Order: sequence, then structure tokens, then C-alpha cells
Amino acid sequence: MTESLREAPPQTRASETLDPQNWGDIRALGHRMLDDMIDYAANIRNRPVWQPIPDHVRAHFRAALPRSASELGDVYREFTDFIVPYTTGNVHPGFMGWVHGGGTAVGMLAEMLAAGLNANLGGRDHIPIEVERQIAEWMRQIFGFPHGSSGIFVTGTSMANLMAVLVARTTALGKPVRQRGIAEDGALLTAYASTAVHGCISKAMDIAGFGSDALRHIQTDRFHRMDLDALHERITRDRVAGFKPFLVVGSAGTVDIGAIDDLHALKSLCCEQGLWFHVDGAFGALGVLAPALAPRLAGIEHADSIALDFHKWGQVPYDAGFLLVRDGDRHRDSFAAPAAYLRRETRGLAANSPWPCDLGPDLSRGFRALKTWFTLKTYGTERLGAVITRSCELAEYMKERILAEPRLELMAPVQLNIVCFRYRADNADQVNADIVIDIQESGIAVASTTLLQGQLAIRAAIVNHRTDTSDIDALLSAVLEFGRQRCSSCDRVPLIEPSPPLAM
Ligand SMILES: *Cc1c(COP(=O)(O)O)cnc(C)c1O
Repeated sequence: MTESLREAPPQTRASETLDPQNWGDIRALGHRMLDDMIDYAANIRNRPVWQPIPDHVRAHFRAALPRSASELGDVYREFTDFIVPYTTGNVHPGFMGWVHGGGTAVGMLAEMLAAGLNANLGGRDHIPIEVERQIAEWMRQIFGFPHGSSGIFVTGTSMANLMAVLVARTTALGKPVRQRGIAEDGALLTAYASTAVHGCISKAMDIAGFGSDALRHIQTDRFHRMDLDALHERITRDRVAGFKPFLVVGSAGTVDIGAIDDLHALKSLCCEQGLWFHVDGAFGALGVLAPALAPRLAGIEHADSIALDFHKWGQVPYDAGFLLVRDGDRHRDSFAAPAAYLRRETRGLAANSPWPCDLGPDLSRGFRALKTWFTLKTYGTERLGAVITRSCELAEYMKERILAEPRLELMAPVQLNIVCFRYRADNADQVNADIVIDIQESGIAVASTTLLQGQLAIRAAIVNHRTDTSDIDALLSAVLEFGRQRCSSCDRVPLIEPSPPLAM
């Protein structure tokens, strides 16, 4: 490091700063934490995937505000005893419940380094911003977007989708919408997505001020893709009724079964109709890294915007969502707002405009880009693509096993990494809901449920890079075993239970 340009500071009294009195102590404890967390990842298979939280553990987090100091070692012991054993379980290879990434030790280390730098990526001239721009550039290349496109890290795809809706809104109504609000014109704007679209799109329409009714849910075909004739028909009907269609959201990997809309066809329709074409590619978009999958995402390169998560199939630790916008000017027009205290310069620390705060609602932002940069560099896109391919192969393996097992029934075509199936039984909805919870409580595996044509299905989403055939086998054996137990008790125990009161 360069020699200090400053005089040595006067001795500060230790109690005045939050730095440790003894750096050696914190160093030793820090090394132990690091060892423990590396062991945690290395030995994750020895743990239950998930376990119910005992009352005394939950009660531990209803404690009084700590007014006085505690020893770091004691706080760390609380972490190991009361927090570590009771997480969701998505680091574990047996976790197939929801579309969650598994994370990596590399990502964990990078997160630690980012916390050490404590960089604020709202703006200003420092290299962390260049790291984020580097990833935006890589994403531009991966998705075949033109120069001049822009990208930004956000918490997750829910936020990226909301921002895409806002960019589409500003494009449709012009920049003055940002001062005037959506007003009468905006009240007529309508958006379109399939019935299988993620719920965050409705929420985005709500938050953006259109109301969730302004999102038209279009029926799907037998492969769970948006029905193009129905879409066309609905747009025409809306225009006749005086509405102003402005946005189509295509799904690249639906959350329930992993279907990919016909992105090419959607793009053509959007061009013809003058609509913004956004792709929700939360997990599926990174499928472009897998040679076998990439052709199925054809058309994504023509999107006006893409939302995706590195924290799912990209295996970057939470949170790491991303929004890519084809026309960077439109992106900036939607969010940039001058402020005296954020004045830009051409040199000095206030240079390097535009800043990330011009591309979204956040001012202060963390260094999510670093863990993503480390992940992309350390593994390379080929290896990350291979993990994605492998997830899909495992889904195929699971499908074959289900088809070969008369007690199980496949509930939807397996198109990507998600398998929906169920145990054949009378009162199958209740039995399968119970099986899923039984398995979760057993710690053997985690699956979740979804509704397909009104029927409850067990849903296994294979996202974690650690998942192997043995984990699939364990889940299926558990389904058969708990199914057998549930059904043998069916004869004895009355099946109809009072339904629980509706959640408030
Ligand atoms: C996970 C997911 C989302 C939401 O993304 P978050 O990162 O959880 O906010 C949106 N769409 C799809 C298809 C998803 O799988």
C-alpha cells in the first residue's frame, strides 16, 4: 500500500470508536466464523434440510432491546445455536421446495469482502461501480442486446419487474408522467401476461398505480405457454373498448412448472402493436448459458427489458436481482432525478455520471455486483451453464422415475427444472398437502405444492447445484412412504378436517 499522506492521528480513546480494543481477538474469532461457515457448506448433507422451530428458539427473538454491550463471542454463540439450525434449507441439496438458489462458498467469501469495503453503489467515482457496469456489459453480451443498453442490480426479480413496468409506463406516457402522475391517460393503460405469470407482476401493476386489474391474464396452451390467439383477441377487444395496451410480459420459466413463452412470437406481436416487451426471466433467463436450453429462449434478445436473478440458477448468495433495459436512455428517463446534493462533476469523486441511482429508486445500494463478479469469474459461464443443464437432466430423471411408479402421477409436462406430480389417492389434494408437510418436518427433503387445473400437485424445483440423483431418490421414497402411511390411516381416521380459518 502507498505510504500514508496523513500525519498519524492522535491516540483516540478506544471507547469512542466501534473498532475492537484488540484486533487480535476479533481476528481469531473471525477466522473461527469463517471455518464454521465453510464447514457448514461442506457438511450440509449431515443436517436436516429444514426443521420446525421450537418455541424456546422463537422466544429467543422476542428479547428486550440490548442497551448495553455484549461479548461478540457470546452473540456468535447465539447465532450458532439459535439461527444456523433454523434456516429455510436452500443450501441443502435436498431443498427443492421453491425456486431458491444454493449459494456457494465463493459467493459467501465475496459477500464478506464486499461488507469489508462497505461500498455505497448509489453513485460517485469508484471501482465498485465499474464492477457493476462490467456485469451489465456481460449481460448485454449474453442476451445479445445492443450497445447503449443499461443494467442494474436490485434486490430481486420482483423489484426488477416493477422497474420494467415503470420504464414501460414512462415510454408509453412520456416523461411528463413523472411530474403529473398517470392521470386519465394512464388509467386506461393495460398490460398482458399469461395466467402462469409470477404474482409480482400484478403487484407491480398495483404499485405503479394502474391497479392489478389492468393486468390481463391470458390463458395458456397445453404446454403452459401464453396462448397467442387469446392474447391477440384480448388486445383487440381492449382497444375497441377504449383501453390503451402498453406492455406484454413474457415468462422465461414460469414459477409453477418452468414453461417458456414463445418469446419470438410475443416480440413480433409487440412490434406490430407498438407494445413494450418485457421478459420475466427470474430463473429461466440464465438458461442462455446452457447450450441445450438457449435455443428455447430464442427471442429474448429482442426484448425491451429482461428481469433476472443471479440468486437462483446463478447460485449467487441472496440477494442479487438484475434488470437489463435495451434502451438505456429510456431507463434513465424513468428514474434520473436531479438533486443539489447529488451534483455531478467531470473530475473528483462526484464524476462518473450517470450513476446507478439514475437507473432505479434506490440511492444507497450495496455491492451485490461483487459476489456476482466473483461467481462469474471463478466458475465461468460454461460451468454455471453446466449446472443449469444438470438441473434439467435431474428433472428428467425424476420424471422417468415418476412415470415408472404406478403410485405416482405426473401433473404437468417437465420442460425445464420443475417437476409437478402427486401420490395417487382418494382425497388426493389433502393427502398430498399432508405428504409435503410430513416430508418437510422429517428433514429428509423439502418440496412445496402448487395448484394445476384446480388440483394440488407436489412441486419439486431443482435449482441447487449440489442436488444429485440420491436427493431425488430420497424425496420420491419419502413421498411413497408418507403416502402409504397417510393412506393406511385414511381407513381409520375420518378424512374431513375442518378447514382452517382464513388468514387475515
Ligand atoms: C422468483 C421469481 C420471481 C420473483 O423474484 P424474486 O427474486 O423472488 O423477487 C419472479 N418471477 C419468477 C418467474 C420467479 O421464479
